[in-house]
Amino acid sequence: MVKWNGIADQAFLYWQEFLQWFLSVPIYGQVLVIVGAVAVLILAGIMVYYVLKGTAYLIYYVLKGVYLLLKAIFLGIYKLFEELYYSITGKPRPVKKEKEPEVEPDVSVAQAKEPRIEKSPVLKHLTPIQPDAVYCSECGNQFTEQMQQKLHENGNVFCVYCGKGYKANAIEIAQ
Ligand SMILES: [Zn+2]
Repeated sequence: MVKWNGIADQAFLYWQEFLQWFLSVPIYGQVLVIVGAVAVLILAGIMVYYVLKGTAYLIYYVLKGVYLLLKAIFLGIYKLFEELYYSITGKPRPVKKEKEPEVEPDVSVAQAKEPRIEKSPVLKHLTPIQPDAVYCSECGNQFTEQMQQKLHENGNVFCVYCGKGYKANAIEIAQ
């Protein structure tokens, strides 16, 4: 239906007309025309790029949205059938372990480990002692009330007279 030959001829005529005009223009005018044409082409290219990019993003988000929607629908259907299954068969639902209790012990263990790591080098220097001891075996001085209290509460104490460190026996701490 469309006369491609006619259109091509028309285009060729316009092109020839343009060439004639172009060649009649002084050389700096030709340069300007070329620069302008290049600039227009670059701008057009940039616009096409952004339009395509925008379209790609649009398609991507639409597809993602559709995917999430379908996922939600299928999950909903799955849950529904799961509910039906358990209500029809009357089987007890398998107890699902919640994630939080699994995670928390890890954290608490990690937290508990840290102080131990910090303490251990110090505690290694400490001499084991009965938790109810009242005399320093190093300097022979009697423990002050504060020292006794500290030994009782913290499980370790440093002699205020000679600086020797003591720790209550592990068995006693455990109690
Ligand atoms: Zn002492």
